[in-house]
Amino acid sequence: MARRPLVVGNWKMHKTSREGAAFAEELLALGLPDGVDVALAPAFPALESVGRVLAGTSVALAAQDVFAEPAGAYTGEVSAAMLADLEVSLVLVGHSERRRGRGEAEPELAEKMRRLAERGLTPLYCVGETLEEREAGRTLEALARQMEAFEAFGEPPGSLVVAYEPVWAIGTGRAATPALAAEAHADIRRLLAERFGRDAAADTRLLYGGSVTRGNAAALFAEEEIDGALVGGAALEPGSLLEIARAAARSAGRD
Ligand code: PEP
Repeated sequence: MARRPLVVGNWKMHKTSREGAAFAEELLALGLPDGVDVALAPAFPALESVGRVLAGTSVALAAQDVFAEPAGAYTGEVSAAMLADLEVSLVLVGHSERRRGRGEAEPELAEKMRRLAERGLTPLYCVGETLEEREAGRTLEALARQMEAFEAFGEPPGSLVVAYEPVWAIGTGRAATPALAAEAHADIRRLLAERFGRDAAADTRLLYGGSVTRGNAAALFAEEEIDGALVGGAALEPGSLLEIARAAARSAGRD
């Protein structure tokens, strides 16, 4: 079965609650193409207002992170249950800005995915090598290490989505070439197949992330292994995100 494209806008620490809701209204007013799933990932304070605008529409609500414990005395943290209550359906886990800035590693990321699966939420698990790793020929090793977060899972958690985000391409304006991204996606799918079997691997959507724009999206999506994108900077403006979603829909022959 063909995998349906998915485009996720990660706003990072941009957009207040009011700005996020206004963006969502504008995006919906522009009209999204059929044949592509779209999700918005605001910062926690904007989840409720954006969710209210998206309720009953085809655009899903995503969160940028979740805490690894289900509940308790964890000041400042947000649980999977809290996200589920806000009708979040997709949650980023292991974004490189958190791996690097917050020291998050595979055991903790596995716990986060377990919490999400318990609540029926979909993890969007991010992997990707640093420039140093790529230049040292250690890209596959880095990806395999990050995929060890699935070690204790007998099957993919939730309806898992994986994003390949080479660290050197995030926010740099230097996107991976389609061929390089497709090669990494094929490696990730092979690692998924080794762990969960070929069918589960074939069903898992793999997104590319790292300086995706309306200018380079179509070429990336032309690669069969690339099922959509996790978009940062180019998701901050509705028209730009819409063009990327259109390119994804076209790649699936649906726009
Ligand atoms: C990201 O933050 O996941 C990302 C891919 O950012 P950008 O599109 O700005 O490179």
